[in-house]
Amino acid sequence: MTLEERLQQVKSSLPDYVTLVAVSKTHPAEAILSAYRAGQLDFGENRVQELVPKQDELPKDIRWHLIGHLQQNKVKQIAPFVYLIHSVDSEDLLKVISKEALKNNRKINCLIQVHIAQEEHKFGFTSEAAFELLSRFSEDLYPGVIIQGLMGMATFSDDQSLIQSEFKILKSLFDRIQGLNLPELIDFKVLSMGMSGDAQLAIAQGSTMVRIGSAIFGSR
Ligand SMILES: *Cc1c(COP(=O)(O)O)cnc(C)c1O
Repeated sequence: MTLEERLQQVKSSLPDYVTLVAVSKTHPAEAILSAYRAGQLDFGENRVQELVPKQDELPKDIRWHLIGHLQQNKVKQIAPFVYLIHSVDSEDLLKVISKEALKNNRKINCLIQVHIAQEEHKFGFTSEAAFELLSRFSEDLYPGVIIQGLMGMATFSDDQSLIQSEFKILKSLFDRIQGLNLPELIDFKVLSMGMSGDAQLAIAQGSTMVRIGSAIFGSR
């Protein structure tokens, strides 16, 4: 199958309300351009060093999603153009993003990353810490950011029931936060969960955005 055919296959497996982020990390700009020409506008990268040169050479209407751990000192490099940062894993990082956004006279869309997996090495807030942060989120504190929702990654495992239970935890946190009905969280609508291996499980649990790499671009 060609890249375009794989992209169409992935797209047709998703409900209309689910946004597809095509994860292009490690793949060359030409592959991104092929997907772009086939109509894909949302692309995800996990490293700033890779994202910046790709953004520079590719069409300017691409919406770039930063999905990997972000170091505070690299925020300024992506602040002028990044569309959505999925991986906000500390309050200090949120502060830096807000500051750099304002320097660029814009607001930056952010998701709060929540640690739902059993694996130690994954980043993110605990559910309680994410709830605590968002329940007191205010535009006065972070005038440069728009909180659009949550992101999480399940344990890398074949155990479907484990993955399902982790997605359930994230969805219930998402519902609790939405249930607060805070005016400061008017844009809180995005639940980014699901990758090539577990997208359907994630959608069944309420995902509204999936991050899919290998099923589109092939293995890395
Ligand atoms: C690489 C990556 C993905 C995509 O993974 P695939 O298994 O290739 O679909 C999704 N989310 C994050 C955070 C990633 O780093």
